Amino acid sequence: MVGLVVVSHSRPLARAAVALAAEMTKGRPLAVEIAAGLDDLDEQTYGTDALAITEAITAADSGDGVVVLMDLGSAVLSAETALELLDDEVREKVVLCPAPLVEGLIAATVAAASGAGRDEVAAEAMAGLAGKESQLGPAPSSASPSLPQEHDGLSATVTVSHPHGLHARPAARLVAEARSFDGALVQLRNATTGSGWVPATSLSRVATLGALQGHDVEIRASGVRAREALGRVAALVVADEASLSTGAVGPTAASPGVAVGPAVHLRETPINLPDHPSLGPEPERQRLTQALDETRRAIAQIRSAEPGIFDAHLLLLDDLVPAADSLIAQGLPAPRAWQTATTDLAADFDSLTDPYQRARAADVRAVGDQVLRALIGAPAPAVTTDAPTGDDAPPAAAGGGVLIAADLTPARAALLDPSRVAGVLLAAGSPTSHAAILIRTRGLPAVVGAGPDVLDIPAGTEIALDGTAGEFAVAPPPPVLASFRERASHEAALRTAARSHASEPAVTVDGVTVAVGANIGDVGDARAAAANGADLAGLVRTEFLFQDRATAPGVDEQVAVYRRIAEALGGRRVTLRTLDAGSDKPVPYLPAPAEANPFLGVRGLRLSLLHPDVFADQLLAVVRVAREAPVSLMFPMVTTVDELRRARLLLDEAVARDGAGRPPDLRVGMMVEVPAAALRAADFVPYADFLSVGTNDLTQYTLAAERGNAALASLASGLDPAVERLVGEVCRAAGDRVPVAVCGELAADERAVPRLLAAGVRQLSVAPALVPLVKQTVRCVEVPR
Ligand code: PEP
Ligand code: MG
Repeated sequence: MVGLVVVSHSRPLARAAVALAAEMTKGRPLAVEIAAGLDDLDEQTYGTDALAITEAITAADSGDGVVVLMDLGSAVLSAETALELLDDEVREKVVLCPAPLVEGLIAATVAAASGAGRDEVAAEAMAGLAGKESQLGPAPSSASPSLPQEHDGLSATVTVSHPHGLHARPAARLVAEARSFDGALVQLRNATTGSGWVPATSLSRVATLGALQGHDVEIRASGVRAREALGRVAALVVADEASLSTGAVGPTAASPGVAVGPAVHLRETPINLPDHPSLGPEPERQRLTQALDETRRAIAQIRSAEPGIFDAHLLLLDDLVPAADSLIAQGLPAPRAWQTATTDLAADFDSLTDPYQRARAADVRAVGDQVLRALIGAPAPAVTTDAPTGDDAPPAAAGGGVLIAADLTPARAALLDPSRVAGVLLAAGSPTSHAAILIRTRGLPAVVGAGPDVLDIPAGTEIALDGTAGEFAVAPPPPVLASFRERASHEAALRTAARSHASEPAVTVDGVTVAVGANIGDVGDARAAAANGADLAGLVRTEFLFQDRATAPGVDEQVAVYRRIAEALGGRRVTLRTLDAGSDKPVPYLPAPAEANPFLGVRGLRLSLLHPDVFADQLLAVVRVAREAPVSLMFPMVTTVDELRRARLLLDEAVARDGAGRPPDLRVGMMVEVPAAALRAADFVPYADFLSVGTNDLTQYTLAAERGNAALASLASGLDPAVERLVGEVCRAAGDRVPVAVCGELAADERAVPRLLAAGVRQLSVAPALVPLVKQTVRCVEVPR
C-alpha cells in the first residue's frame, strides 16, 4: 500500500487532518505518518524538521512508494531537504505532492486505502479541490477534463437516498467499491443537475457531482464484470447509511451466499398453559417423561449440526428433571412444574456475573420451551409471511423467503428449512454466535447485526442479501436487484461445479496443488469430510471428547474414537490437535482459577502442560493410533519455543511408555495462533514438521478484539493486513523447510484464499461442507512467483 506523510508546522493540525481523513476510510488500513512541530512532547511548537520527515517517510514506506503532503513555506523546504537525506533507492519512491493539505490528504487516503498506485494517489490529491471548485466556481488552472458522452456499456439511473446526499463518507465507500472492479470502467453523472460524467474511481471527481438526497444519478459501466460493478455502485448510491457496513458495528457477513426473496418473519406462537389440575404425580410424571423423550429425539436428529451445542442442551434437560419432579410431587401438573423449574434455573443463570455462564440462560429457555411445547402439543415457532389471516398464512414464495428475526435460538437455527428460507437477516447476533454457526452448517446465506429497524420491514417486501459481503438491500431498484441476482447465479454455478469435482485435487491455474482438508469436531464430521472430498483432516478438535463429562477420557476410549475418525477418513491423514481447553472452553476436571480474561489465560497447550497426567494419556492414545493410520499431532496455543520443546519431551515419554518405538509416519507440528509465535516462526521451525495457522485466534490476538464479541465482529477480521502480514512472516520463516497450513475460518474465505496461497500456504482446512467450494476457489487462483 502507498504510504502517506503529512508535514505540517503544527502537530495538532496534522493530527486533526489525519483523523478527518481516517474517518473517510473507516475500518480500512492506512499507512499515514506525521512529521510536524519541533518537539514531540510540546504540542505548542511550530516548525518542521527534515530529519523527522525522513523518519516518517521511512516508517510509511512499505515498498509501494510514499506521497508526502505539506502545508506551506518551510514545510516544503524541509521536505526537499529530507529527500536529499534519503537513500537513492527510497528517494525514487517518494513524491512531494503540492496538493492542498486537507482536501488532498482526504482524496489521497481514500485512493491509497483502495490500493491505488503512488502516482494515482498523488493525482487524486492534486484533484482534491475539484469538489469545492464545482460548487464555488471552477479555478481555471485545475479544471478537470470532461469524459466523453458516447458509451457502449450498461447504464442505470438511481435516486440518492442518503439524507445528506452523496457526501464524503458514502462517496468514499462508493469510490472504494468502484476501484475494487479492476477491469471495469464505471462513470457517474448527476442527471438532476445535468452534470458531466465523472469516473466513479475518483473521490475528488465524485464530490463534484453535488448529488443530494432525491437527485437522480446516472451510472454507466463497461468492461470486465461491468454488470456487477454497476449493481454495486448503484447500491451504494441508493443505500441509506444504516445499511452501509463501514467497519463499525453494523451489518456483518455471517454465512456466505446470496439470497433474494420476500421478507418473512418468525412467528412466535405464545405458549398458553392449560388450566388443568394435576392428574396425580404418577400420570403427570409419565407425561413429562414422554415429552422429554420426544424432545431428546428431536435434539438427537439435529445434534450432528453442532454436537457441542446440543449435547449441552441434553445435559440441561437432565439438570431440570429433579426440580420438575419435586414440584409434580407437590401437586403441580407437569406443564406448570416444568415451566417453574426452567424459569428458576434460567433466573439462576441470569444472576451470574460471568458472561459465558449468563449466556446459558438462553439455552435453558430454549430447551425449556421445546419440552413445554411437546407437553401441551403447541406447534413450534413457524416461519410465516405474517399475512393478516394468521394461521392460514400462505407459505413463503417458491424458493423461500428471507427470514427476519431479532436473533435465533440454536434449535431454531438448526431447524431452518432451506426449501422455505432462502436467507437469514438478523437484527442482532454475531458471526460467531451459535445461531450463525448453525446457519452456516445449513448452507443458508446470512447477515447479522443488521439493527432493530429490519424487524419493521413489512412481510413480503423484497429483500436482497449477500452473506459473503455482509450487505442487504430492502426493496432494491432493478439494477441493484440484478447485481444480487447475478452474484446468486454465479455462486450457484460455482456450487454445482464444486460438487461435481469435489473428490479431485485442488490445483491452481498454474499447477500448484493445494491440499484442502476438513476441520472435524466428531466422528460424524469425519464421515462428512470424506463424503465432501476432503484430502485430509487438517484439524481434529479433540475437545469434543473431553467436555461435558466428570472425568477425563482414558487412553483406550481415546484410541477407540480417534481410530473411528481415521477409519471414516479411509486412509487420509488425520491431524489430531491436543486438548484446546481453558476457562473459555471449560472442562470440570481440569479446574483453572477464575480468570478476568479467559482468552489470555491458561488455555490450549498451557493447560495441558499444567496437567501432565491427562496430557500424557492423550499423547499415548495419539501414538497408538499413529501406528495404524497416517497421523499428525498438533499442539494448540503455543507461545514460546520452550513450551513446544516441553510438549515434545512429553511425547517422547509417551512413545517410551508405549514401548514400540516411534511410529514412523507420525508428524508433529504446532498451531500458530499467538502473534509472538508468528513473529518468531523461524525459531519454531527446527522443532516442527509443519505449522498450521489458526487465524481465528491469531486474528483476535492481533487486533485485540475477542472473537465472540458481537460488537467487535467487523474489527476482528482475518482479512486485516496485520493478520496477512503475520501469515506472510510464518511462510517466509518456514520457507521450503516445513509446510504451512491455515485451519481458521479464513481458509474458507474466497477473498483470502488467493492471498494465503500467494504468501506460500499450501494446505487449507475448513468445515467439511465447504471443502468442495474451497477446492473450486483454489482452482481459479494463479499463484504469483
Ligand atoms: C483457530 O484459532 O483458528 C483455530 C482453528 O482453533 P479454534 O477455532 O479451535 O480455536
Ligand atoms: Mg484456536
